[in-house]
Amino acid sequence: MLKLSKRLQKIADYVSMGSRVADIGSDHAMLPVYLLQSNRCPSAIAGELNRGPFEAAKKQSADAGLTSRLTVRQGDGLNVLISGEADTVTIAGMGGSLMSDILEAGFTAGKLEGVTELVLQPNVGEELVRQWLLKHHWFLKAESILEEDGKIYEVLHAVRSDDAVSRNSELYDGHFLALNLETDLLFKVLMQMGPYLLRDPQPALFKKWRHELNKLERICESLAGSDLAESAVKREQFLAEMHVIKEVLQCLRTDNP
Ligand code: SAM
Repeated sequence: MLKLSKRLQKIADYVSMGSRVADIGSDHAMLPVYLLQSNRCPSAIAGELNRGPFEAAKKQSADAGLTSRLTVRQGDGLNVLISGEADTVTIAGMGGSLMSDILEAGFTAGKLEGVTELVLQPNVGEELVRQWLLKHHWFLKAESILEEDGKIYEVLHAVRSDDAVSRNSELYDGHFLALNLETDLLFKVLMQMGPYLLRDPQPALFKKWRHELNKLERICESLAGSDLAESAVKREQFLAEMHVIKEVLQCLRTDNP
């Protein structure tokens, strides 16, 4: 059986047993091959936009002797799917902006009909994915943060639920944080940093946001050297953002000595 990276294994662990999976942007199709080999999924579709990865996915499927259960298709995002063909959609290893564009286009084209579960691993821009899920009434059931080879990854697991709206509004209520911030700002913090990740803060979360603070610090230093009025405005925005992040980390640290 294929041995997955820690990141892909976490995604695989969220996929419900017995579901038909579509892995979009599959590259070498490692994830669907593992899901079939481990008998977690009866069948899978690997979708790829680009020819190189599409060929690599076909080869992986053939080498593993899985061509009868793993269909490899070339195309843009969820276009490779026929509505109702998959129970679970996984999308991993791309930016949150592209990921939410793929989800939006797929939703508009009806490709998410019948899909009951999404497992998403944006490399950056996680808040855009959380926003998309919230807007489309997917309940964010769980999320994880992990570090591998010096990189930090977040994995989001969303499901359809009749009471998604009320469950999400409870989830995104940031008053559990002992912070004196406006409700809107608390909501923004949860979108950015993850409602579950903040409720159960792991070392990787601190590491990620300390790294973000360092990046913002460097940007502010370079903006400070500019005479442009817009630079001063931007710098103020970043400083305010940094202030909030520091406050959040401080309050989490106090709660979790
Ligand atoms: N999902 C794998 C993983 O997490 O290890 C591969 C991630 S790889 C960095 C991103 C893949 O997404 C590339 O193979 C790229 O060709 C594919 N991709 C980018 N845009 C896409 C789109 N609109 N539709 C389908 N695949 C896309």
